[in-house]
Amino acid sequence: SSAERAWAAVDAFVAPLVDEPQTARDVQAAASDAGLPDIAVSAAQGRLLELLARSVGARRILEIGTLGGYSTWWLAQSLPTDGRVVSLELEPDHAAVASASLAATGLGDRVEVLVGPALASLDALVAAGSEPFDLVFVDADKQQLAAYTDRAITLSRPGALVMVDNVVRGGAVTDADHPDDRVQGVRTFLAAAAADERVDGTVVQTVGEKGYDGFALLRVR
Ligand code: SAM
Repeated sequence: SSAERAWAAVDAFVAPLVDEPQTARDVQAAASDAGLPDIAVSAAQGRLLELLARSVGARRILEIGTLGGYSTWWLAQSLPTDGRVVSLELEPDHAAVASASLAATGLGDRVEVLVGPALASLDALVAAGSEPFDLVFVDADKQQLAAYTDRAITLSRPGALVMVDNVVRGGAVTDADHPDDRVQGVRTFLAAAAADERVDGTVVQTVGEKGYDGFALLRVR
C-alpha cells in the first residue's frame, strides 16, 4: 500500500541519523547467509535499544530471543567493557550463528547465550539468585510473553526498563476472538502488565520497514 511505502521511505530517509555501523550490517548479513528468518529488529530499533541501554546506565542486560545476534550486537556494544548481555535462545543453530558473529566483532566476551527454552533459563536465573538486570529486551515466542515478562521483572532492579517487542501486530491486538495464539499471548501479557503493581508502563505504536507494530515499555518501580 502507499502507506507502507511511505513508512519504508521514512526509515530510509532517517538512515543517516540512525547511522547503522558496518559491523551491525555484517552481523545481519551473517544471519541471512545462514538462512535465518528475516525477523530481527530494524536498524532504527537497534539504535533505540542502544539509547535506552545507555540512558539507564546499563551494565547487565537480559535478552529473550537471540536469533542471529543483531539486536544482541546493538545491546552489547552499548555496554561498558565489564558489562554483560545474557541472551536466551531456543534454537542451537541460531545461538551458534549469533555467538560466531559476536565473537567476530570482538564482543564475544560481553555476551552469554543460554541455549534452551527461555522459560527454563529464566527460572534457572531466578533460582540462582542472578545479579539484577538494568534492561530487558523481550523478543521471542509471543505465546509465553506474560510468563517471560513476569520473570524479567523479578530479575530486574528498581528503575530497570523492560522492552517488549511486537505487541500491536497490525492492530490485531484489539481483537478478543483473534485465532492467532501470538495475538492471544500479547493480549494476556498486556492484561497482566496492566495489573502488575511492580511496573509503570506504556505502549508505543510503530510503523516502518517492518510494517505496523509497536512495543511495550515497562519501568520497574
Ligand atoms: N532479538 C532478535 C533480533 O532482533 O535480532 C530477533 C529474535 S526472533 C524475533 C525470535 C527468536 O526467539 C528466534 O530466534 C527463536 O528461535 C527464539 N525462540 C522462539 N521460541 C523460544 C523459546 N521458547 N525460548 C527461547 N527462544 C525462543
